[in-house]
Amino acid sequence: MRPFHALAFGALVLPLSAFAADPHSFAQPDQVRVTHLDLDLKIDFPQKQLDGKATLTLDWKNPKATSLVLDTRDLKIASIEGIDAQGHANALKFALAPRDKELGSKLTIATPQQPAKVRIVYSTVPTASGLQWLTPEQTADKKLPFMFSQSESIHARSWVPLQDTPAVRFTYTANVTAPKDVRVVMSAINDAKHPLDGNFTFNQPHPIPSYLLAIAAGDIAAKETGPRSAVYAEPSVVGKAAKEFEDTEKLIAAAEKLYGPYAWGRYDLLVLPPSFPYGGMENPNMTFATPTLLVGDKSLVSVISHELAHSWSGNLVTSAAWRDIWLNEGFTTYVQGRITEAVYGKTLADEEALLSARNLQKTIGAMPVNSQRLAPEPRGIGADDSLSEVPYDKGSWFLRTLEQRFGRETFDEYLKGYFNHFAFQSITTEQMLEYLKANLFDKNPGKMSWDEVKAWVYDPGTPKNAPLPTSARFDAIDKERSAFLAGTRSADKLDAKGWNTQEWMYFLDGMPDVAPLDKLKQLDAAWHLTGTPNAEIGMRWYTHAIAAGDKDVWSAAAEHMSRIGRLYLTMPLYKAFAKTPEGLAYAEQVYAKAKSGYHPMTQQAVEAVFAKAKKGDKSEK
Ligand SMILES: [Zn+2]
Repeated sequence: MRPFHALAFGALVLPLSAFAADPHSFAQPDQVRVTHLDLDLKIDFPQKQLDGKATLTLDWKNPKATSLVLDTRDLKIASIEGIDAQGHANALKFALAPRDKELGSKLTIATPQQPAKVRIVYSTVPTASGLQWLTPEQTADKKLPFMFSQSESIHARSWVPLQDTPAVRFTYTANVTAPKDVRVVMSAINDAKHPLDGNFTFNQPHPIPSYLLAIAAGDIAAKETGPRSAVYAEPSVVGKAAKEFEDTEKLIAAAEKLYGPYAWGRYDLLVLPPSFPYGGMENPNMTFATPTLLVGDKSLVSVISHELAHSWSGNLVTSAAWRDIWLNEGFTTYVQGRITEAVYGKTLADEEALLSARNLQKTIGAMPVNSQRLAPEPRGIGADDSLSEVPYDKGSWFLRTLEQRFGRETFDEYLKGYFNHFAFQSITTEQMLEYLKANLFDKNPGKMSWDEVKAWVYDPGTPKNAPLPTSARFDAIDKERSAFLAGTRSADKLDAKGWNTQEWMYFLDGMPDVAPLDKLKQLDAAWHLTGTPNAEIGMRWYTHAIAAGDKDVWSAAAEHMSRIGRLYLTMPLYKAFAKTPEGLAYAEQVYAKAKSGYHPMTQQAVEAVFAKAKKGDKSEK
C-alpha cells in the first residue's frame, strides 16, 4: 500500500509471549489452517451490509485439536456448521468473545470431529471497519451507490470470518450478487466484458494472505490499457484514468525484466472515489487506487509502480506478521524505484529516492525509539501503526545501500533469487536475514559487514553513512529556496515554470515548518498554489499556509479536506489546524460536514487528532 505516513492510532501493548504467533490475530494456525475460502455474498446497499456464507476448507495440523479459532470484528454470526469429507453437514457450537478494541472478537468454534470444512452464515454491520459504503451523491457520476473494501492491516475480519493473519495463505472462490447495473470486482481475475446482470463469480487460484482479500461494487466501467491490463473506474473517470495509466504494460514489462515473470495473469487497476484512504492498495490482479493520482502528466504514476511491485514483494513474498511489514513495503519501495528508473529515467527515480530519504530524516527522530526500527520489538506496535515511514523509506534505503555495496548486477540476481525462493510464502525478518547472509554476504565477502546489517534492521534512526542519491535539479531548488527565504530572489523570479510535481514537493518540503507569512503570500501571488488541482502540492501548500496563520487559504483548504479522504493528503491539514484553538474549531466544522463521505479509517484518524489536541490543550492549562 502507498503511502500511509505516521498516524497516531492508539498503540496496543502486547505481551511478548503473544509474539510466538501473530499478536494481531486470535488464530491458531499451528492447530489448523484454512487452505481455501468459498464466499457467497449478497451486497445490500440500502442496509449497507454484506450477507455472507463463508465456507472454509481446513487442514488439521494437530490431531488432538478440538476447536477452530477465527478472527471477526462486528460480524453478526447466524449459524455455523461443520461439513465432513462425505459432504454431511452438522450444526456446530460456537462462542463469540467480547470485542477487543483493536483485535475484534475471537470466534471459537467447537470442532471435536475435525470437519473437512466449516460454513459460517453471517452479516456485516454498516460501520464495518474494512468497508466503505457511499451513496450515489457521494460518487463522481451520482447514479448508483458504491462500496469498497480495504482489508490491510487487520480489517478483513470485519467482512469475512477468517484467520486474519498474513502468516496464513489460502485460495478463494466467490459468488457475489448485487443490484442490476452494478459491477462487482474482486482481488481475483476480473472479466471486463462481464454482463451487469447482478451475478458475479470469482476465482483466485493463488494462495493469498487475508489482507489481500478485496471487493468493490458500483457504477464501474472498464477500458483496456494493454494486452493484460485494464483500468476500471466510474464512467466519467475511466477515460482520464486510462490515459494517465497508459504505460501500465511498460511498467509490467520493466518489472518482469528485473525480477522474472509476473505470476498473477492480468494486472488491472480500479480507480476509487476520492474517499479511498490510501494512495493505492496492491490487491492481487486488481490494484485499488486513489483518483488523486490523476494529475494529467503521469507524474504520480510511481504509486502504480509501487502497487505493481507488490506483485513480487508482498503478494508473492509476504511478511508473516505486521512487525515484519518492511519486508513488504521496504522491498516494494525499492522495486518501485527500479521500475520508475527503467520506464521514466534515473532523474525521476533519484528525485523520488531523495524525497523519501529526506522525509524520513525529518520525521524519524520524533518517533518512539521502537518505531524507528525496521524490525521493531513486538511490544507496543499496533497493526495499523506499523505502517509508518520507517518500513517504506528506511527499508528501501537499506536495500539501495545493499545494491550500492554489492553492485547492481549481483544484487539484482540475488533479489530475483529471493523472490523465487520464497514465492507464495509468508516469512519473518529473521528468515529473510538468514537467506541474505547465505546468498549475498557469504558468496560475496568483504563488501559490507554483518554488523552494519544488524544496525539497519534492529537499531533506531538511520546509519550515519547511509548513501544518498544526488539530484542536480534538487540542488538547484535548494539554492532557489535559500535565495527566496533570504530575500535575494523574489517569488516571481523563481525558476519554477518547468517544475514537475516532485520538484514542487521538494521545494515545499524544504520550507521552514512555520514560514514567514509575507513570503508565503508572495509565493501564492506568483504561482497560484491555492486551489491547485494537484493534491500532493496542495497538501504541502495548505499545511504551510495554515501554520503561518494565513486565514485566506482556509476555505480552499477546507475544500481540499472535504474532497479528499486519502489519509496522507488530508491528515496534515487537520494536524496543522489543530495547533490553534481557532483552527481546531474550524477543522471541527469542516469535519462535521465531510464526515459522512469519509472512510471509517479516515474518521478514526481525524477524531484521534481532535482528541489529542484537546487533551494537550487541557494538560497545558
Ligand atoms: Zn505498499
